[in-house]
Amino acid sequence: MQAPGSAFGNYNYYMLAKADGKGRGAFALTNLKAGTKILVDKPLMVIDKKHGFDAADVGAEYQKLSSAQKEAFDQARVVFSNGREESTSDASAFDKFNTNKFSIDGKDKWGCFAHASRFNHSCLPNCHMSATANEGMQCHVIRDVAAGEELTFTYFENLLYLPTNQRRQFMAAKFMLLAGGCLCKLCTNPGKEQNESDARRLQMRDQVYKWSKCDITEGYGPPFSQAAVNGAIGYERCKQDRIVNPAQDFVDLAEEEGIVTSWWVRWACLWLAELENEKMGPDLRRLRRFTMRTQELLHNCKGLQPADDHDRRFAARIDRLKANLQQLEAAQSRS
Ligand SMILES: [Zn+2]
Repeated sequence: MQAPGSAFGNYNYYMLAKADGKGRGAFALTNLKAGTKILVDKPLMVIDKKHGFDAADVGAEYQKLSSAQKEAFDQARVVFSNGREESTSDASAFDKFNTNKFSIDGKDKWGCFAHASRFNHSCLPNCHMSATANEGMQCHVIRDVAAGEELTFTYFENLLYLPTNQRRQFMAAKFMLLAGGCLCKLCTNPGKEQNESDARRLQMRDQVYKWSKCDITEGYGPPFSQAAVNGAIGYERCKQDRIVNPAQDFVDLAEEEGIVTSWWVRWACLWLAELENEKMGPDLRRLRRFTMRTQELLHNCKGLQPADDHDRRFAARIDRLKANLQQLEAAQSRS
């Protein structure tokens, strides 16, 4: 059982060191394979309150902590709004909580994390941060990483689908920490690679709109509820030209771009597998490709054990596809 404020794994896999212009960041100590869980972090403090929280809520929770927990919380760092300086002093408890918070149930519950919060943002990340089943945060490496590389995750999934100039606008408007400009590799290396990335991202946003009629970049994270997704993507409307082609183009572009942490890519792969599975005489190579890719993306981002009902349902859909695929492949090899 982990104590609040304690972390598992971090000293084996990474260390904190100075990151160019970004204060400190996490750097891989060894070569890491996609899917490696490098951190499980227990919150210093949790606030469970609908419609946001304020300084009084943080103060009230703080008073409930033991003196050791208070001491740990007092050490939490605050990154000032220019995103460049760090401090543990001269910052209110509210600032500390706010700077180091993660949503731990996707809605109203927030935890303050001393370790998960030390990773810098990237618009093309190599890690994924997700909630555990018991109010913690975990971090997985989502593609192979070389020793010495900085480990990053995206603070907003939306940023993965915006070209450079639109990312800047989005950050300036919505994201205080990066308002001074993002210093990730993609944003700070103008040139051919960035231009190609910008073109791909514009196309990806366009493809999602074609199949879902939703703009991927609205709001925070996936921009609409599961009910709305089901309404928009209802299978009766899944005509080849409406859904399959844009979804397939989207997945291909995402792979080319190296985006493997996204809710959207995972779901597009699952839909493509399920649509193939529903066909009379499905293309088994295609069914295998999208089924196994969906599973790989889920495992690499979130581990082998689903942390919540949403992931359990998602994993169950993959299991159904795999079972059917096995039967079809066995039948094919017999014939
Ligand atoms: Zn960036």
